[in-house]
Amino acid sequence: MTSERLVIAMDGPSGSGKSSVAKAVAQHFGLAYLDTGAMYRALTWYCLQQQVDLTDADAVLAVAQNFPLSQGTTADVEMIEVDGVDVVEAIREPRISENVSAIASNRGVRDLLINMQRDAIKNSGYRMVAEGRDITTVVAPDADARILLTASEEVRLARRGLQLGGTQNNEQLAQQVSARDAKDSKVNNFTEAAEGVTLVDSSDLNFEETIDAVIKAVEEARQK
Ligand code: C5P
Repeated sequence: MTSERLVIAMDGPSGSGKSSVAKAVAQHFGLAYLDTGAMYRALTWYCLQQQVDLTDADAVLAVAQNFPLSQGTTADVEMIEVDGVDVVEAIREPRISENVSAIASNRGVRDLLINMQRDAIKNSGYRMVAEGRDITTVVAPDADARILLTASEEVRLARRGLQLGGTQNNEQLAQQVSARDAKDSKVNNFTEAAEGVTLVDSSDLNFEETIDAVIKAVEEARQK
């Protein structure tokens, strides 16, 4: 086992395939994996469960300050618990996707979660793939490889539709993908690659080809 540091930061809009690709890349390099979107989703679930008004920034921040989150960091098993409750499936429900941007635009909440994310990277011994919206730019701008994974809106809508097993109509999908990205874009720019960030456009790539493209980008960044 090597202990050489390798932090891979990956950002992208919803439906870009970044979670599945990030997990595969983590397995390829033998790294831990952090899904930062799951943290915002879990906090949204907890606020809804506590019947907190999501537009009340101070109330949401108070919940975040005592957020009993337990999250696994392996790519092969997803483990997310809030106060001992398994929320792995609940946080993927449309009601969470529709409300998460309200939580993620709370500055105080972001500061708290960003600190937790930096701690997770440190606790991995700096051997982790972390994915989200602001990992390349805010959470880990010093990562060894920084990648922005994109795909056309049409492709992203189709992928999310498949992921949700055809349960959502076009309007619902647009709400959960395009409208959510528009809200999230007010907080972070994840549509253009910042300086030093490699753009991987997966619109015309299948899953395996996308993984290969990201692995190649990581190898190139490591040689710099
Ligand atoms: O990646 P995922 O779609 O699960 O992210 C859920 C939400 O969490 C995003 O829509 C965004 O509001 C928020 N998020 C964020 N910053 C991150 C990761 C996710 O604001 N690093």
